[in-house]
Amino acid sequence: MAELLTAKGTKRQFTAGPEGYPFPCTVIAGKEEGKTVLITAQIHSGEYPGTPALIRLAERLDPAELKGTLILIPCVNITGFYAGTNAYVPEDHGNLNAAYPGDPDTVTGRIAHYFVQELFPHADFVLDLHSGGMNEALTPCLFFPALKCTEESLHIAEQLDIPYLVPSYNTAGEMSYAANVMGIPGLLLERGYGGMCKEEWIRAYERDLDLFLCAMGMKEYTDTHTCEKKIFQKAYYTEAEETGLWFPAVHAGQVIRKGELLGRTEDFSGRLLREYKAEADGILLYYSIGMNAVKGDPLAAYGQ
Ligand SMILES: [Zn+2]
Repeated sequence: MAELLTAKGTKRQFTAGPEGYPFPCTVIAGKEEGKTVLITAQIHSGEYPGTPALIRLAERLDPAELKGTLILIPCVNITGFYAGTNAYVPEDHGNLNAAYPGDPDTVTGRIAHYFVQELFPHADFVLDLHSGGMNEALTPCLFFPALKCTEESLHIAEQLDIPYLVPSYNTAGEMSYAANVMGIPGLLLERGYGGMCKEEWIRAYERDLDLFLCAMGMKEYTDTHTCEKKIFQKAYYTEAEETGLWFPAVHAGQVIRKGELLGRTEDFSGRLLREYKAEADGILLYYSIGMNAVKGDPLAAYGQ
């Protein structure tokens, strides 16, 4: 992509993306040589706080204070954003965290293919900003690639201000394909939830970005004190085993014990369908705050 060849010490804003699917992009080329990093938000539409954090970074960052190159895409799933979908690309109901390396017959696949062909080859690191979806409460956490590039990715994760580090075995998502298949280290960050965009979450993401650029040796930042970290061995994902009404019994960030009740489902006559219990001790990372539980829907996730 020719626009990536931005002159040293300059900033360019333009639309990138596969043919017929333009999304906003800013490239900031530092005065000095350094790493090239790709930072994205809203591959899942409806996960908002990363978007204004990237817009503000693009505005405030002076290329003179940057080493290396930043490629910032504040809203990848732009049609989903304007359609108000919870996460997926509305044209084909595709999930950009499960569509890589991409199928040229679908819009979602063409976006994934574009990243693989045009963006990943330039990137030394991929950072992808998410949030709990509209029906999901979440405590700040991040996912690191567990199959490849684990050490390089964890080294950066440990310098951010996010307490829970969760291994990802996904190989078909944006960050996870780049890392686990193409060998580019990366992280998927999660902050905020419920289709909201609170100022405190945007600011926390802005600080994560400053800490990240400092950890990458791309920009100076002095306020580097961060929280204690827990690196999980394993994440458990509880899904609805039948369709019904979901009543959670936990909150995000809660310490849970093996056998503890996570929530229950009922039918419309109030009859208990099932109790969902924790399979192991852990920390509750996120859970569904929607009452509707369709068979196969995620209800809760916790790390051990
Ligand atoms: Zn997401």
